[in-house]
Amino acid sequence: MKHRIVVLGAGYAGATAAGRLAKRLHRDDVEITLVSADADFVERVRMHQLAAGQELRQRPLRELFAGTGVRVVNELVTAVDVDAKIVQLADAEPLAYDSLVYALGSTGATDVPGVVEHAHSVAGKQAALRLRARLDTLAPGATVLIVGGGLTAIEAATEIAEAHPDLAVTIVARGGVGDWLHEKAQRHLRTVFDRLGITVRTDTDVTRVTENGVITGAATELDADVTVWTAGFTVHPIAAATGLTVSDTGRIVVDITMRSVSHPEVYAAGDAAQAPGPDGRPLRMSCAAGTPMAWRAADALAARLTGGTAPEDPIGYAAQCISLGRRDAVFQRVSFADEPTSTVLTGRLGARVKEFICAGAAWGVGHPTVLMPTRRRRIVALDAREDRLAAR
Ligand SMILES: Cc1cc2nc3c(=O)[nH]c(=O)nc-3n(C[C@H](O)[C@H](O)[C@H](O)COP(=O)(O)OP(=O)(O)OC[C@H]3O[C@@H](n4cnc5c(N)ncnc54)[C@H](O)[C@@H]3O)c2cc1C
Repeated sequence: MKHRIVVLGAGYAGATAAGRLAKRLHRDDVEITLVSADADFVERVRMHQLAAGQELRQRPLRELFAGTGVRVVNELVTAVDVDAKIVQLADAEPLAYDSLVYALGSTGATDVPGVVEHAHSVAGKQAALRLRARLDTLAPGATVLIVGGGLTAIEAATEIAEAHPDLAVTIVARGGVGDWLHEKAQRHLRTVFDRLGITVRTDTDVTRVTENGVITGAATELDADVTVWTAGFTVHPIAAATGLTVSDTGRIVVDITMRSVSHPEVYAAGDAAQAPGPDGRPLRMSCAAGTPMAWRAADALAARLTGGTAPEDPIGYAAQCISLGRRDAVFQRVSFADEPTSTVLTGRLGARVKEFICAGAAWGVGHPTVLMPTRRRRIVALDAREDRLAAR
Protein backbone atom coordinates (compact mmCIF):
# COMPACT_ATOMS: atom_id res chain seq x y z
CA MET A 1 0.00 0.00 0.00
CA LYS A 2 1.21 3.49 -0.78
CA HIS A 3 2.21 5.89 2.00
CA ARG A 4 -0.59 8.47 2.20
CA ILE A 5 0.59 12.06 2.67
CA VAL A 6 -2.18 14.62 3.15
CA VAL A 7 -1.29 18.32 2.96
CA LEU A 8 -3.89 20.68 4.44
CA GLY A 9 -4.02 24.15 2.90
CA ALA A 10 -2.71 25.30 -0.48
CA GLY A 11 -1.28 28.70 0.40
CA TYR A 12 2.43 29.49 0.16
CA ALA A 13 3.29 26.80 2.72
CA GLY A 14 0.96 23.94 1.76
CA ALA A 15 1.29 24.26 -2.00
CA THR A 16 5.07 24.55 -1.76
CA ALA A 17 5.34 21.52 0.53
CA ALA A 18 3.12 19.36 -1.71
CA GLY A 19 5.11 20.22 -4.84
CA ARG A 20 8.41 19.56 -3.14
CA LEU A 21 7.28 16.21 -1.73
CA ALA A 22 6.22 15.18 -5.24
CA LYS A 23 9.72 15.98 -6.42
CA ARG A 24 11.41 14.08 -3.61
CA LEU A 25 9.39 10.85 -3.39
CA HIS A 26 8.79 8.05 -5.85
CA ARG A 27 5.28 8.05 -7.31
CA ASP A 28 4.93 4.29 -6.90
CA ASP A 29 5.38 4.67 -3.15
CA VAL A 30 3.35 7.69 -2.15
CA GLU A 31 -0.05 9.22 -2.65
CA ILE A 32 0.05 12.98 -2.07
CA THR A 33 -3.27 14.77 -1.54
CA LEU A 34 -3.50 18.55 -1.28
CA VAL A 35 -6.68 19.84 0.38
CA SER A 36 -7.79 23.43 -0.08
CA ALA A 37 -11.03 25.27 0.58
CA ASP A 38 -10.18 27.53 -2.33
CA ALA A 39 -9.95 26.09 -5.84
CA ASP A 40 -7.23 28.63 -6.68
CA PHE A 41 -3.85 29.39 -5.24
CA VAL A 42 -4.55 32.72 -3.52
CA GLU A 43 -1.68 35.19 -3.46
CA ARG A 44 -2.43 36.42 0.01
CA VAL A 45 0.37 39.00 -0.11
CA ARG A 46 -1.71 40.84 -2.73
CA MET A 47 -5.01 41.05 -0.86
CA HIS A 48 -4.62 44.82 -0.34
CA GLN A 49 -4.31 45.14 -4.13
CA LEU A 50 -7.52 43.15 -4.60
CA ALA A 51 -9.27 45.37 -2.03
CA ALA A 52 -8.06 48.50 -3.83
CA GLY A 53 -9.72 47.35 -7.05
CA GLN A 54 -7.03 45.46 -8.99
CA GLU A 55 -7.65 42.16 -10.75
CA LEU A 56 -5.37 39.32 -9.74
CA ARG A 57 -4.31 36.46 -11.92
CA GLN A 58 -6.33 33.27 -11.41
CA ARG A 59 -4.23 30.25 -10.57
CA PRO A 60 -6.41 27.10 -10.43
CA LEU A 61 -4.71 24.54 -8.21
CA ARG A 62 -5.73 21.62 -10.44
CA GLU A 63 -3.89 23.24 -13.36
CA LEU A 64 -0.83 24.11 -11.26
CA PHE A 65 -0.49 20.54 -10.06
CA ALA A 66 -1.49 18.74 -13.27
CA GLY A 67 1.09 16.08 -14.04
CA THR A 68 2.95 16.43 -10.74
CA GLY A 69 1.37 13.41 -9.06
CA VAL A 70 -0.33 15.61 -6.45
CA ARG A 71 -4.10 15.07 -6.17
CA VAL A 72 -5.98 18.29 -5.41
CA VAL A 73 -9.11 18.02 -3.26
CA ASN A 74 -11.20 21.17 -3.18
CA GLU A 75 -12.83 20.83 0.25
CA LEU A 76 -13.18 22.60 3.58
CA VAL A 77 -11.34 20.87 6.43
CA THR A 78 -13.50 20.77 9.56
CA ALA A 79 -11.39 18.69 11.95
CA VAL A 80 -8.36 16.44 12.27
CA ASP A 81 -8.38 13.31 14.43
CA VAL A 82 -4.70 12.79 15.14
CA ASP A 83 -5.27 9.50 16.96
CA ALA A 84 -7.27 7.89 14.15
CA LYS A 85 -5.14 9.81 11.55
CA ILE A 86 -8.21 11.08 9.76
CA VAL A 87 -9.09 14.49 8.32
CA GLN A 88 -12.76 15.43 8.38
CA LEU A 89 -14.06 17.34 5.37
CA ALA A 90 -17.24 19.42 5.13
CA ASP A 91 -18.74 17.75 2.05
CA ALA A 92 -16.75 14.61 1.36
CA GLU A 93 -15.69 11.34 2.93
CA PRO A 94 -12.96 11.65 5.58
CA LEU A 95 -9.36 11.38 4.35
CA ALA A 96 -7.01 8.93 6.05
CA TYR A 97 -3.29 9.72 6.22
CA ASP A 98 -0.01 8.19 7.24
CA SER A 99 1.76 11.56 7.31
CA LEU A 100 0.10 14.95 7.59
CA VAL A 101 1.38 18.41 6.66
CA TYR A 102 -0.82 21.03 8.32
CA ALA A 103 -0.69 24.43 6.60
CA LEU A 104 -4.10 26.04 7.03
CA GLY A 105 -2.57 29.51 7.43
CA SER A 106 -4.18 32.27 9.43
CA THR A 107 -6.93 34.82 9.36
CA GLY A 108 -7.40 38.34 10.69
CA ALA A 109 -7.36 38.77 14.47
CA THR A 110 -10.78 39.55 15.99
CA ASP A 111 -9.95 39.90 19.68
CA VAL A 112 -11.15 43.51 20.09
CA PRO A 113 -14.90 44.09 20.58
CA GLY A 114 -16.72 45.16 17.45
CA VAL A 115 -14.10 43.91 14.97
CA VAL A 116 -16.21 40.98 13.78
CA GLU A 117 -19.37 43.07 13.43
CA HIS A 118 -18.02 46.34 12.09
CA ALA A 119 -14.48 46.10 10.73
CA HIS A 120 -13.26 45.14 7.29
CA SER A 121 -10.10 43.16 6.65
CA VAL A 122 -7.58 42.30 3.95
CA ALA A 123 -6.58 38.98 5.53
CA GLY A 124 -8.25 36.80 2.90
CA LYS A 125 -9.86 36.89 -0.53
CA GLN A 126 -13.53 37.14 0.48
CA ALA A 127 -12.77 39.85 3.04
CA ALA A 128 -10.74 41.83 0.50
CA LEU A 129 -13.57 41.59 -2.03
CA ARG A 130 -16.09 42.84 0.56
CA LEU A 131 -13.83 45.80 1.36
CA ARG A 132 -13.38 46.54 -2.33
CA ALA A 133 -17.17 46.62 -2.84
CA ARG A 134 -17.59 48.93 0.17
CA LEU A 135 -14.83 51.31 -0.97
CA ASP A 136 -16.55 51.61 -4.34
CA THR A 137 -19.71 52.91 -2.66
CA LEU A 138 -17.98 55.73 -0.73
CA ALA A 139 -18.51 59.37 -1.63
CA PRO A 140 -15.50 61.66 -2.10
CA GLY A 141 -14.11 62.82 1.25
CA ALA A 142 -15.29 59.68 3.10
CA THR A 143 -12.87 58.44 5.76
CA VAL A 144 -11.12 55.09 5.82
CA LEU A 145 -9.44 54.16 9.09
CA ILE A 146 -6.76 51.50 8.97
CA VAL A 147 -6.02 50.06 12.41
CA GLY A 148 -2.51 48.65 12.85
CA GLY A 149 1.07 49.79 12.48
CA GLY A 150 2.63 46.79 10.77
CA LEU A 151 3.37 45.74 7.23
CA THR A 152 -0.25 44.96 6.35
CA ALA A 153 -1.50 48.32 7.63
CA ILE A 154 1.11 50.20 5.61
CA GLU A 155 0.45 48.21 2.44
CA ALA A 156 -3.34 48.54 2.79
CA ALA A 157 -3.30 52.28 3.57
CA THR A 158 -0.97 53.23 0.72
CA GLU A 159 -2.73 51.01 -1.82
CA ILE A 160 -6.18 52.35 -0.93
CA ALA A 161 -4.97 55.98 -0.82
CA GLU A 162 -3.31 55.63 -4.23
CA ALA A 163 -6.32 53.91 -5.86
CA HIS A 164 -8.90 56.20 -4.19
CA PRO A 165 -7.26 59.63 -3.95
CA ASP A 166 -10.64 61.19 -3.10
CA LEU A 167 -10.88 59.26 0.19
CA ALA A 168 -9.35 60.41 3.48
CA VAL A 169 -7.13 57.58 4.73
CA THR A 170 -5.87 57.48 8.33
CA ILE A 171 -3.64 54.90 10.00
CA VAL A 172 -4.20 54.42 13.74
CA ALA A 173 -1.55 52.43 15.59
CA ARG A 174 -1.05 51.44 19.20
CA GLY A 175 2.68 52.17 18.88
CA GLY A 176 4.56 53.48 15.86
CA VAL A 177 4.02 52.74 12.18
CA GLY A 178 6.83 50.77 10.59
CA ASP A 179 9.03 51.73 13.54
CA TRP A 180 10.99 48.47 13.41
CA LEU A 181 12.50 49.49 10.06
CA HIS A 182 15.83 51.26 9.54
CA GLU A 183 15.63 55.06 9.89
CA LYS A 184 16.15 55.45 6.11
CA ALA A 185 13.09 53.32 5.43
CA GLN A 186 11.05 55.12 8.10
CA ARG A 187 11.96 58.48 6.53
CA HIS A 188 10.77 57.21 3.18
CA LEU A 189 7.50 55.99 4.68
CA ARG A 190 6.82 59.46 6.10
CA THR A 191 7.45 61.03 2.67
CA VAL A 192 5.06 58.59 1.01
CA PHE A 193 2.35 59.09 3.64
CA ASP A 194 2.62 62.86 3.01
CA ARG A 195 2.52 62.41 -0.76
CA LEU A 196 -0.59 60.21 -0.59
CA GLY A 197 -2.27 62.41 2.03
CA ILE A 198 -2.38 59.66 4.66
CA THR A 199 -2.85 60.84 8.26
CA VAL A 200 -0.93 58.84 10.86
CA ARG A 201 -2.02 58.61 14.52
CA THR A 202 0.53 56.77 16.61
CA ASP A 203 0.33 55.69 20.28
CA THR A 204 -3.42 55.29 19.97
CA ASP A 205 -4.91 52.13 21.40
CA VAL A 206 -8.17 51.14 19.76
CA THR A 207 -10.37 49.35 22.28
CA ARG A 208 -13.62 49.00 20.32
CA VAL A 209 -14.87 49.20 16.76
CA THR A 210 -18.32 50.66 16.24
CA GLU A 211 -20.61 51.23 13.29
CA ASN A 212 -19.25 54.76 13.01
CA GLY A 213 -15.53 54.30 13.63
CA VAL A 214 -13.47 53.33 16.64
CA ILE A 215 -13.13 54.16 20.33
CA THR A 216 -9.63 54.55 21.73
CA GLY A 217 -8.18 53.83 25.16
CA ALA A 218 -8.51 57.51 25.96
CA ALA A 219 -12.27 57.16 25.34
CA THR A 220 -11.96 59.29 22.22
CA GLU A 221 -14.19 58.47 19.27
CA LEU A 222 -12.59 58.53 15.84
CA ASP A 223 -15.21 58.63 13.12
CA ALA A 224 -14.82 56.54 10.00
CA ASP A 225 -17.00 55.41 7.14
CA VAL A 226 -14.91 52.27 6.85
CA THR A 227 -12.63 50.70 9.45
CA VAL A 228 -10.06 48.16 8.25
CA TRP A 229 -8.59 45.94 10.96
CA THR A 230 -5.00 44.90 10.23
CA ALA A 231 -3.76 44.58 13.81
CA GLY A 232 -2.55 41.00 13.82
CA PHE A 233 -3.43 37.56 12.54
CA THR A 234 -4.80 34.55 14.33
CA VAL A 235 -4.92 30.85 13.44
CA HIS A 236 -7.93 28.63 12.83
CA PRO A 237 -9.16 26.85 15.99
CA ILE A 238 -8.93 23.48 14.19
CA ALA A 239 -5.30 23.03 15.29
CA ALA A 240 -6.01 23.54 19.00
CA ALA A 241 -8.94 21.11 18.82
CA THR A 242 -6.79 18.27 17.47
CA GLY A 243 -4.90 17.45 20.64
CA LEU A 244 -1.60 18.40 19.00
CA THR A 245 0.63 20.54 21.20
CA VAL A 246 -0.13 24.16 20.32
CA SER A 247 1.20 27.49 21.55
CA ASP A 248 -0.91 29.86 23.64
CA THR A 249 -1.98 31.45 20.36
CA GLY A 250 -3.10 28.11 18.90
CA ARG A 251 -0.20 27.54 16.48
CA ILE A 252 1.10 23.97 16.19
CA VAL A 253 4.41 23.75 18.01
CA VAL A 254 7.04 22.16 15.79
CA ASP A 255 10.76 21.50 16.04
CA ILE A 256 13.37 22.77 13.61
CA THR A 257 12.35 20.09 11.11
CA MET A 258 8.70 21.35 11.24
CA ARG A 259 7.63 18.13 12.94
CA SER A 260 5.00 18.37 15.65
CA VAL A 261 6.59 18.06 19.09
CA SER A 262 3.71 15.82 20.20
CA HIS A 263 2.82 13.75 17.10
CA PRO A 264 5.78 12.65 14.95
CA GLU A 265 3.66 11.84 11.87
CA VAL A 266 2.39 15.43 11.76
CA TYR A 267 4.32 18.35 10.24
CA ALA A 268 3.18 21.96 10.16
CA ALA A 269 4.39 24.97 8.20
CA GLY A 270 3.50 28.57 7.50
CA ASP A 271 1.36 30.79 9.71
CA ALA A 272 -0.26 27.79 11.41
CA ALA A 273 3.05 26.55 12.84
CA GLN A 274 5.18 27.90 15.65
CA ALA A 275 8.74 27.02 14.74
CA PRO A 276 12.01 28.08 16.35
CA GLY A 277 13.62 31.06 14.61
CA PRO A 278 17.32 31.94 14.45
CA ASP A 279 17.41 33.75 17.80
CA GLY A 280 15.03 31.47 19.68
CA ARG A 281 12.00 33.62 18.93
CA PRO A 282 9.34 31.84 16.83
CA LEU A 283 9.51 32.51 13.11
CA ARG A 284 7.02 35.27 12.39
CA MET A 285 3.87 34.76 10.34
CA SER A 286 4.99 35.70 6.84
CA CYS A 287 5.43 34.40 3.37
CA ALA A 288 9.15 35.04 3.88
CA ALA A 289 9.30 32.41 6.64
CA GLY A 290 6.41 30.22 5.45
CA THR A 291 8.08 29.16 2.21
CA PRO A 292 11.37 27.97 3.79
CA MET A 293 9.31 26.27 6.50
CA ALA A 294 7.49 24.36 3.75
CA TRP A 295 10.78 23.38 2.07
CA ARG A 296 12.01 22.16 5.44
CA ALA A 297 8.85 20.19 6.24
CA ALA A 298 8.94 18.47 2.84
CA ASP A 299 12.67 17.76 2.98
CA ALA A 300 12.50 16.42 6.53
CA LEU A 301 9.49 14.21 5.88
CA ALA A 302 10.97 12.89 2.63
CA ALA A 303 14.32 12.24 4.32
CA ARG A 304 12.72 10.31 7.17
CA LEU A 305 10.58 8.21 4.85
CA THR A 306 13.54 7.32 2.65
CA GLY A 307 16.01 6.56 5.41
CA GLY A 308 17.91 9.85 5.10
CA THR A 309 18.71 12.55 7.65
CA ALA A 310 16.42 15.52 8.16
CA PRO A 311 18.13 18.92 7.75
CA GLU A 312 18.43 20.82 11.03
CA ASP A 313 20.16 24.10 10.21
CA PRO A 314 18.25 27.17 11.41
CA ILE A 315 15.80 29.03 9.16
CA GLY A 316 16.35 32.80 9.06
CA TYR A 317 15.49 35.92 7.14
CA ALA A 318 16.96 37.96 4.29
CA ALA A 319 14.68 40.94 3.64
CA GLN A 320 11.36 42.61 4.29
CA CYS A 321 9.50 44.14 1.40
CA ILE A 322 6.62 46.56 1.80
CA SER A 323 4.61 47.83 -1.14
CA LEU A 324 3.57 51.50 -1.03
CA GLY A 325 1.04 51.51 -3.84
CA ARG A 326 2.02 50.30 -7.31
CA ARG A 327 4.94 52.64 -7.99
CA ASP A 328 6.76 52.68 -4.67
CA ALA A 329 7.98 50.26 -2.03
CA VAL A 330 10.52 49.72 0.71
CA PHE A 331 12.96 46.85 0.32
CA GLN A 332 14.62 46.47 3.72
CA ARG A 333 17.55 44.07 3.92
CA VAL A 334 17.56 42.32 7.30
CA SER A 335 20.02 40.13 9.16
CA PHE A 336 19.50 36.38 9.49
CA ALA A 337 17.77 37.20 12.81
CA ASP A 338 15.47 39.75 11.12
CA GLU A 339 17.24 42.91 12.37
CA PRO A 340 17.06 45.79 9.85
CA THR A 341 20.31 46.80 8.17
CA SER A 342 21.14 50.09 6.46
CA THR A 343 20.57 48.51 3.01
CA VAL A 344 17.26 50.00 1.97
CA LEU A 345 15.82 50.38 -1.55
CA THR A 346 12.87 52.69 -2.12
CA GLY A 347 10.85 54.28 -4.92
CA ARG A 348 10.44 52.63 -8.31
CA LEU A 349 13.47 50.40 -7.80
CA GLY A 350 12.02 49.20 -4.48
CA ALA A 351 8.69 48.60 -6.22
CA ARG A 352 10.35 46.54 -8.96
CA VAL A 353 12.18 44.41 -6.41
CA LYS A 354 9.00 43.91 -4.38
CA GLU A 355 7.05 42.91 -7.49
CA PHE A 356 9.82 40.51 -8.51
CA ILE A 357 9.69 38.86 -5.08
CA CYS A 358 5.86 38.57 -5.04
CA ALA A 359 5.75 37.24 -8.59
CA GLY A 360 8.65 34.88 -7.82
CA ALA A 361 6.85 33.47 -4.78
CA ALA A 362 3.75 32.73 -6.85
CA TRP A 363 5.84 31.36 -9.70
CA GLY A 364 7.60 29.04 -7.26
CA VAL A 365 4.25 27.65 -6.14
CA GLY A 366 3.09 27.26 -9.74
CA HIS A 367 6.31 25.53 -10.77
CA PRO A 368 7.05 23.47 -7.70
CA THR A 369 9.39 21.16 -9.47
CA VAL A 370 11.35 23.37 -11.86
CA LEU A 371 14.25 24.77 -9.85
CA MET A 372 15.03 21.58 -8.02
CA PRO A 373 16.48 18.46 -9.61
CA THR A 374 14.12 15.50 -9.51
CA ARG A 375 15.28 12.93 -7.01
CA ARG A 376 12.34 10.71 -6.41
CA ARG A 377 13.61 8.34 -3.77
CA ARG A 378 11.99 5.08 -2.78
CA ILE A 379 10.36 4.81 0.58
CA VAL A 380 12.13 2.51 3.00
CA ALA A 381 10.01 0.18 5.14
CA LEU A 382 9.73 1.38 8.72
CA ASP A 383 11.87 -1.38 10.27
CA ALA A 384 14.55 -0.93 7.60
CA ARG A 385 14.49 2.82 8.26
CA GLU A 386 14.99 2.26 11.95
CA ASP A 387 17.86 -0.19 11.33
CA ARG A 388 19.53 2.30 9.02
CA LEU A 389 19.18 5.17 11.48
CA ALA A 390 20.43 3.01 14.35
CA ALA A 391 23.53 2.17 12.28
CA ARG A 392 24.43 5.89 11.97
C1 LIG B 1 -2.50 41.97 2.69
C2 LIG B 1 -1.37 41.07 3.11
C3 LIG B 1 -0.07 41.39 2.69
C4 LIG B 1 0.99 40.56 3.08
N1 LIG B 1 2.25 40.88 2.64
C5 LIG B 1 3.27 40.08 2.99
C6 LIG B 1 4.59 40.36 2.53
O1 LIG B 1 4.82 41.35 1.83
N2 LIG B 1 5.59 39.52 2.89
C7 LIG B 1 5.37 38.43 3.67
O2 LIG B 1 6.32 37.71 3.96
N3 LIG B 1 4.14 38.14 4.14
C8 LIG B 1 3.09 38.92 3.82
N4 LIG B 1 1.83 38.63 4.26
C9 LIG B 1 1.64 37.43 5.10
C10 LIG B 1 1.52 36.18 4.22
O3 LIG B 1 0.51 36.36 3.26
C11 LIG B 1 1.18 34.98 5.07
O4 LIG B 1 2.13 34.88 6.10
C12 LIG B 1 1.22 33.72 4.21
O5 LIG B 1 0.17 33.77 3.27
C13 LIG B 1 1.13 32.46 5.06
O6 LIG B 1 1.15 31.35 4.19
P1 LIG B 1 0.36 30.02 4.61
O7 LIG B 1 0.54 29.07 3.51
O8 LIG B 1 0.73 29.62 5.98
O9 LIG B 1 -1.18 30.48 4.72
P2 LIG B 1 -2.15 31.01 3.59
O10 LIG B 1 -1.43 31.67 2.50
O11 LIG B 1 -3.17 31.78 4.34
O12 LIG B 1 -2.82 29.70 3.00
C14 LIG B 1 -3.70 28.92 3.76
C15 LIG B 1 -4.39 27.91 2.87
O13 LIG B 1 -5.25 27.10 3.65
C16 LIG B 1 -6.55 27.06 3.06
N5 LIG B 1 -7.49 26.87 4.15
C17 LIG B 1 -7.65 27.62 5.26
N6 LIG B 1 -8.58 27.08 6.05
C18 LIG B 1 -8.99 25.97 5.43
C19 LIG B 1 -9.92 24.94 5.76
N7 LIG B 1 -10.60 24.93 6.91
N8 LIG B 1 -10.09 23.91 4.89
C20 LIG B 1 -9.38 23.87 3.74
N9 LIG B 1 -8.50 24.79 3.38
C21 LIG B 1 -8.32 25.83 4.22
C22 LIG B 1 -6.69 28.38 2.34
O14 LIG B 1 -7.68 28.31 1.34
C23 LIG B 1 -5.27 28.52 1.78
O15 LIG B 1 -5.14 27.72 0.63
C24 LIG B 1 0.75 39.42 3.91
C25 LIG B 1 -0.55 39.12 4.32
C26 LIG B 1 -1.61 39.92 3.93
C27 LIG B 1 -3.00 39.57 4.38
